[in-house]
Amino acid sequence: MGALRDEFLRYLARTSAAPDGLEVRSAEGAWIKGADGKRYLDLLGGIGVCNTGHRHPQVIDAIRAQLNRHLHVMVWGEYAQEAPVGYAKLISEHAPVADARVYFTNSGAEAVEGALKVARKATGRKRIVAFEKSYHGDTLGALSVLGVPALREPFEPLIPEVIFLPFGDSAALSRITKEAAGVIVEPIQAEGGVRVPPDDFLPALRNRCDETGSLLILDEVQTGLGRTGILWAGDHWGIKPDLLVLAKALGGGLPLGAFLGTSRLMDTLAKDPPFSHLTTFGGHPVSCAAGKAALELSFSLDLPARAAKLGAIALERLEGLAKKGTVAAVRGKGLLLGIECQSAEQAERLVRACRAKNILVGTALHDETVLRITPPLVIREKDFAYGLGLLATAAGKAAK
Ligand code: PMP
Repeated sequence: MGALRDEFLRYLARTSAAPDGLEVRSAEGAWIKGADGKRYLDLLGGIGVCNTGHRHPQVIDAIRAQLNRHLHVMVWGEYAQEAPVGYAKLISEHAPVADARVYFTNSGAEAVEGALKVARKATGRKRIVAFEKSYHGDTLGALSVLGVPALREPFEPLIPEVIFLPFGDSAALSRITKEAAGVIVEPIQAEGGVRVPPDDFLPALRNRCDETGSLLILDEVQTGLGRTGILWAGDHWGIKPDLLVLAKALGGGLPLGAFLGTSRLMDTLAKDPPFSHLTTFGGHPVSCAAGKAALELSFSLDLPARAAKLGAIALERLEGLAKKGTVAAVRGKGLLLGIECQSAEQAERLVRACRAKNILVGTALHDETVLRITPPLVIREKDFAYGLGLLATAAGKAAK
């Protein structure tokens, strides 16, 4: 154990009993170099952040160019700065919402907060509907719609009038009534264990929101921007949200989130009263410059198609493990993949075995039996095959 790890454990606040504590020296593409001089194959990609890999040269160039112009100059919404304007325009042109206006934040949780506020303000209603096992972030508002009671309870009272429905159960959607301001949902529950809903669920949810006049808030923080093999995961089921929430890959490796919707909805933040949502740093020009370069790269390299292709190869390979009974199940879309182990112990053994072979994987936050795989979308095919090969061998051993 090195000095950096000692100081990491001493000075940084902890959120888990046994953090990995990998001592990072540098990172490039799909590889992280440790202080021990070893190269680690990164099958987590900062949990779905590093779509274009670590330090892609075009992203670094965009950051440098912005550093040479200006850093923070003003709080959100006052000055016209090229980086956030250009990026909002690009996102808006490709958004699943027509006539979209973008509000940039610093994180996913903060974007969720903004979307919940718009839902209440635009509808004049109070109730929010969310789903069991969902994850939307850890600020008090986002926590209020997080579908794991044990994580909410220590912090109650939270936002009132939130109800939780079972994810994937279309019959339960009748409990959404005209009282609901908004319904927040992840198209695929990532932290919940990479849970893909049955095909009828999201279209039925879209219909129910239309019937009740409730706004559909799609949280694509983890699934968006190409991760699932298509730019927006909602499009797997042909559904469009009223409000879309983004973060993670949005900043190309720098902190950035966003919520967006039609001008009619978003403009509710500018009146009655004005300044209904402010942020000092949201839409930081350096984050926007990095994010825009990363999204442009995603288009020019067609990273969503790459995610679809590599994901299909991986699923086929991993399904062999499920057939043999080595693991319980494999699932996912694109490069958001989940391996459900026989038990949390097996999953933990597997994570440790991969780590011993310098392969970085981890379990989903709310389901420790599920190994989640979210590599950079630019990962080289041969590196990915190498990682999956070692993982498959390790899974065989971890099953015993
Ligand atoms: N929504 C989803 C679906 C997420 O996966 C996450 C983060 N794991 C968040 C929201 C919160 O994002 P952040 O950590 O940037 O607040």
